[in-house]
Amino acid sequence: MQAFRFEALSLPPEAQAMRKKVRAFLQDERSHNRFAAHRSSWSTFDAEFSRRAAAAGFVGMTWPKQYGGGEYSNLERFVVTEEMLAAGAPAGAHWIADRQSGPQILKHGSERARATILPKIAAGECYFGIGMSEPDSGSDLAAVRTKATRVDGGWTINGSKIWTSNAHRVHYLIVLARTSPLDQDRHAGLTQFIVATDSKGIQIRPILNMAGGHEFNEVFFKDVFVPDDMVMGQPGEGWKHVTGELAFERAGPDRFMSDIRLLVSLIDKVGAEPSERQAIAVGRCVAHFSALRRMSASIAGLLERGERPITEAALVKDVGTAFEREIPEMVRSLVPSESSLDDEDEFSQALAHVLLHAPSFTLRGGTPEILRGMIARGLGLR
Ligand SMILES: Cc1cc2nc3c(=O)[nH]c(=O)nc-3n(C[C@H](O)[C@H](O)[C@H](O)COP(=O)(O)OP(=O)(O)OC[C@H]3O[C@@H](n4cnc5c(N)ncnc54)[C@H](O)[C@@H]3O)c2cc1C
Repeated sequence: MQAFRFEALSLPPEAQAMRKKVRAFLQDERSHNRFAAHRSSWSTFDAEFSRRAAAAGFVGMTWPKQYGGGEYSNLERFVVTEEMLAAGAPAGAHWIADRQSGPQILKHGSERARATILPKIAAGECYFGIGMSEPDSGSDLAAVRTKATRVDGGWTINGSKIWTSNAHRVHYLIVLARTSPLDQDRHAGLTQFIVATDSKGIQIRPILNMAGGHEFNEVFFKDVFVPDDMVMGQPGEGWKHVTGELAFERAGPDRFMSDIRLLVSLIDKVGAEPSERQAIAVGRCVAHFSALRRMSASIAGLLERGERPITEAALVKDVGTAFEREIPEMVRSLVPSESSLDDEDEFSQALAHVLLHAPSFTLRGGTPEILRGMIARGLGLR
């Protein structure tokens, strides 16, 4: 049986120095009242914030300077990610491009894609969305039916995607499409394409979430042309790229800190003299949080060494998002309140915001059942 690798890791001095730098930046943002921490998270889209964060060096941190990056380590990036989340910074505009699309382009994109797109992402001016899920293939991603057909100089894409976060405000989607027929190997014949959202033939329709907000969409492709140099890697490599990408997507602090501000406000609310029940619940939660943090930092260390910790990343995502979902329930049981988004009180607003978004935490990026299947396979149990 294979084993998990969660080695102990202490952050190097340069990561500690980076923490000071990002805290100073966030403090400056707060002192100008530039965001509402109690209602923001990594999915809150604010292009102005992203531009300022990029100007301060916090986007594309690990990429080569040649492409606008900062050549920092994954551990320095890890520290910036957790500080952004801890502060409740509205980092959603650049989040996906910085976390996974940019690294994918760096690894598998053509030289033109790297040279034209990466510096714009690193400047906080170019945003990405993920075009994987389809109406009949979310968990079963290998069943995608969106099709790309070879034409002179590139490909044309036909089909549709669903739940595409921010499709209406990003510049590009990375679209997973079938480039050769479904034969016995379902994973062969899939390819990823970098598709500009202003391409002719794309139609984007909103889907409102439970909070009434417009975050995700349906996206329709009708004969959308994509040039050859916007193909990721070689045709047919899509499945390999997608599974590698999910290691970046699943293991970061964004998988257990989406509602960390609510936990912080709970600690403020129960004050210096909590009841025994409150102290036990908060203590358990904080212990759980620090174990997750250690696991996630350890994965950042493995990524730094060039490894692909796919099983470990699936575990962090499964346990981390279950933790995120538990927080609002725990808060409700400790501090009974009728929360409302319209309330003046920040605690009530924060709780209402999280209650309306928490059900999605375990769905986005892969459901628990799928993750557990992957973990069992990774451990050689299935
Ligand atoms: C807020 C949010 C943002 C999202 N953003 C994006 C995005 O930007 N881009 C994108 O491509 N997708 C996005 N998604 C889609 C997300 O990845 C899918 O919702 C998720 O993968 C599940 O797919 P599905 O909704 O089709 O559910 P289904 O696959 O139909 O699953 C339904 C239920 O059946 C269970 N199930 C399915 N198959 C199995 C199995 N083999 N064994 C056991 N149980 C199973 C699932 O666990 C789930 O509980 C987003 C989703 C949310 C909620």
